[in-house]
Amino acid sequence: MKKTDTPKGDSTRVVTAGRRKEWTQGVVNTPVWRASTILYDSVADLRAAGARDTHHRLFYGRRGTPTQWSLADALTELEPGAEGTFLYPSGVAAIAAALLSVLSPGDEVLIPDTAYDPTRSLATGLLARMGITTRFYDPLIGAGMAAFIGDTTRAIVLESPGSLTFEVQDIPAIVAAAKARGVTTLLDNTWATPLFFPAIAHGIDLTILACTKYIVGHSDVMLGSVTAAPGHFARLRNTSFQLGQVASPDDCWLGSRGLRTMAIRLRQHEQSALEIARWLQHQTEVATVLHPALPDCPGHATFLRDFAGSSGLFSFVLDGGTEAARAALIDGLDHFGIGYSWGGFESLAIPVDPQRHRSVTQRADAGPMVRLQIGLEDPADLIADLAAGLKRFAAVR
Ligand SMILES: *Cc1c(COP(=O)(O)O)cnc(C)c1O
Repeated sequence: MKKTDTPKGDSTRVVTAGRRKEWTQGVVNTPVWRASTILYDSVADLRAAGARDTHHRLFYGRRGTPTQWSLADALTELEPGAEGTFLYPSGVAAIAAALLSVLSPGDEVLIPDTAYDPTRSLATGLLARMGITTRFYDPLIGAGMAAFIGDTTRAIVLESPGSLTFEVQDIPAIVAAAKARGVTTLLDNTWATPLFFPAIAHGIDLTILACTKYIVGHSDVMLGSVTAAPGHFARLRNTSFQLGQVASPDDCWLGSRGLRTMAIRLRQHEQSALEIARWLQHQTEVATVLHPALPDCPGHATFLRDFAGSSGLFSFVLDGGTEAARAALIDGLDHFGIGYSWGGFESLAIPVDPQRHRSVTQRADAGPMVRLQIGLEDPADLIADLAAGLKRFAAVR
């Protein structure tokens, strides 16, 4: 591929990213390089390898091979202004390494009340044991973050939109407050991906993806990534090496394979999810649809200002009704699987109870909540399936 400086569209970027000739060796996708041992020509050669920077050089399997570097580079290329990316065996491993690269005993981290539950558990478990304190904050705090930052605050976690309930955060306002105090910002950008929200260009220091979701896109691999702004990569990489983190080359190959179609998949997820969310808005059994692109979603105006698109995951609140009625809706669905995770080609539906995972914000929902991952099936089939589900709900309610 020729190097040009012409800005490229999203589809072109995901097709070309990370495919350096030295790694692909002339085939289209970088092959799977499996390795633990790397062989050297001599003792002198072995010693020289240990003395120089191992970045993008074969050294030992734990430091990666072209298969991992190719995907890491691709993700860096998708974040204009980023310095580098490190890959992890899951999204949660990525979140943990990113936080551990920044925090030390005595530090405080600020986490939105709507954070992914395992992020909360990490903070109240491992980080607390290490003498790192956490204060949870209202995700809609915006410019109020300036007054919320404390003397020992070292890092602010952001997740936008929030898990389960999709509150859109004012990321530029929070970043501005953080920068004024020298506080590091970490964003869980799994929902939007760099295509709908280029985080580094918006001033985020460390942006995290559960690649398990849209990068892989086929519900068959666990993978995570952290992409760092200039000045943050060396510490991230060193911490990750010290933790012994390495993502499997086979999984990274599948991640690269998935990435090539991410732009077109996301466009379809977006279009189908919007069609279904708008249809749900008009159903009498539905009280609220929590989708960032729709006005009922807290932070909708911020979404319109900052995001280039919306993906396929959203929730809706039923208008009253019991747990059993919600289960009747979900259990009988033909096209929606019941299971965790999301971002694959297939639709999913799960019951969610956000208040169980909140400590500083309250919800007053009209009824039980359902989270949908809209896959790549025909939206008309999914709508017919949900229509029948709402009838089952109404019959039990
Ligand atoms: C799934 C998810 C993660 C964790 O990713 P895993 O690969 O499942 O460990 C982190 N953040 C968000 C927002 C997620 O949805």
